[in-house]
Amino acid sequence: MSGRLIVISGPSGVGKGTVASALEASDPNIKISVSATTRQPRTGDIHGVNYFFLSKDEFEQMVSRNEFLEYAEYVNNCYGTPIKPVLENLEQGISVILEIDVKGAFQVKEKYPDAVLIFLTAPMETLVKRIEGRQKMDQSELEKRLSTAGWEFLQADKFDHVIENNDLDETVDKVRKILNVM
Ligand code: 5GP
Repeated sequence: MSGRLIVISGPSGVGKGTVASALEASDPNIKISVSATTRQPRTGDIHGVNYFFLSKDEFEQMVSRNEFLEYAEYVNNCYGTPIKPVLENLEQGISVILEIDVKGAFQVKEKYPDAVLIFLTAPMETLVKRIEGRQKMDQSELEKRLSTAGWEFLQADKFDHVIENNDLDETVDKVRKILNVM
């Protein structure tokens, strides 16, 4: 039996990573895909765990070898989903969570119409607080992330499901319900 492709998207600071980790922890048949990125690691980021941190050249080589399921530029850096581990997991019946930006989410839906696209939302003040709480985030990066969030909010109605992420447990329950009825 094939696993399912679950896309968790939404603006920076909405809590995608926390929700994805809680879902992974709740079910041995769910795994989070590890993306590649050209952005600098933040304190605590581990290569191969949080991301594969690549140079621009290395990223472009992967693009030219068609090694990404999707990729997109987000606030001056490139992010992409390596396709091989995703397909291997799906073939083994493991569902895969892609925690990715909105542009990437649309590429996934185009290639895999059966993928379930979930948009997490939260009030702008919550996003600001969460992003400001992160290390290595200068003012200009914060502003770019917030202005991108403005556009991202406008895309929510193109997703299969929109969930207001106020409470982690409630959000995880809602996602699990969506997955159970599919
Ligand atoms: P961050 O720099 O905060 O880790 O991630 C910035 C944005 O890039 C977030 O919205 C995150 O979901 C998105 N992102 C992370 N990995 C990928 C990926 O593989 N593809 C795409 N399209 N976006 C990604």
